[in-house]
Amino acid sequence: MRVSVKAPAKINLTLDVLSKRPDGYHDVEMVMTTVDLADRVDLTLLRSREILIDCSASFVPLDQRNHAFKAAKLLMERYSVDKGVHIYIDKHIPVAAGLAGGSSDAAATLRGLNKLWNLGLTLDELATIGAEIGSDVPFCVYGGTALAKGCGEKLTHLSSPTSCWVILAKPPIGVSTADVYGNLRVDQIKKHPNTERMLDAILSKNFSLMANNLCNVLEEVTLTRYPQVMQIKELMIQSGADGVLMSGSGPTVFGLVQKEAKVHRIYNALRGFVKDVYAVRILGGGETEILD
Ligand code: ATP
Repeated sequence: MRVSVKAPAKINLTLDVLSKRPDGYHDVEMVMTTVDLADRVDLTLLRSREILIDCSASFVPLDQRNHAFKAAKLLMERYSVDKGVHIYIDKHIPVAAGLAGGSSDAAATLRGLNKLWNLGLTLDELATIGAEIGSDVPFCVYGGTALAKGCGEKLTHLSSPTSCWVILAKPPIGVSTADVYGNLRVDQIKKHPNTERMLDAILSKNFSLMANNLCNVLEEVTLTRYPQVMQIKELMIQSGADGVLMSGSGPTVFGLVQKEAKVHRIYNALRGFVKDVYAVRILGGGETEILD
C-alpha cells in the first residue's frame, strides 16, 4: 500500500521579529502562503517496524536528521505503531532556501502516515506534533495562507490572496536560518512590516496593496552578508516585478507579477544570472491533498 502526498513550498509575504525570548527563540509575526512548487512524498507501508528514507536530491540527509524521518519516528513512537514506512522524497524545492522544503516534507509525511497507518488524527493534532519538529511545520500541515505568531506555531488561517504569478530565484548558496537569526539585532531593525495592511490586502484581494507591503526584517541580515541576494532583488525589480522580497531567512528572492505577459521577460532576465529560477502560481488556499 502506498500514499503520495504533495509538499508545497511557502513564501513569506511579511516576516517580523518582535522580540528575542529568554530561551533564545524569537517571537515572530509572519504572513505565509503556499506556492505551486512542490516536493512529492511517497510513503510505502512496510510490515516491519522500521523507517527507511530515500530522496531524489543527493545533498539531503537520509537519516534521523531528515525532517520527514523525524515526523515518522514521532508518530510511530507516540502511537505505538507496529508497522513501518519507506519514505521517498521527490525533491523539487531548493534546499536551505527559505522556502520551508524540509518542513513541508515533514508535514506531508504526517498527513500521509495518518492515512497509511490509519491513525485517525485531526489536522490540529498533526500540527501540534509538527511543532516538535520545526516552527514552520504546523503551517505546512494545513498549507494555504496564514498569519503565524509565537515561534510560528500560533496560526490564524486566512483566505487565499488574489491569484498571481510568483517568480522565485535562488543564488547558489545555502543560508542557515539559525545563523541569520543569530545575527539579527531586534532593537536595531530599521523597518518593520505593516502586518495589518497585509491582512487587509489579502482579505480584500487587492494585488497592489499586497505587492506594495511585502516586508521581511531578516533581509537586513542576509542582504548585507550575501551581496548576490541583493543583486537578484535589484534585477527582479529592474525587469518589472510588481513586488519583490526575500523569503524566510533567504537566500531565495521572489517577485509577484500580476500580468502573465511580463512573466517570460522576468524569468529570462533572472535565468541569465542564476540557474534556480521558477515561475509558479500562488496556491494560497490549503491544497494539502493526498495524491493517491
Ligand atoms: P525554512 O524556510 O523552514 O527555514 P529552508 O527552506 O530554509 O527552511 P530546508 O530546505 O528545510 O530549509 O533545509 C534546511 C536544512 O534541513 C538543510 O540544511 C537540510 O540538510 C535539512 N533537511 C532535513 N530534512 C530535509 C528535507 N526533507 N528536505 C530538505 N532539507 C532537509
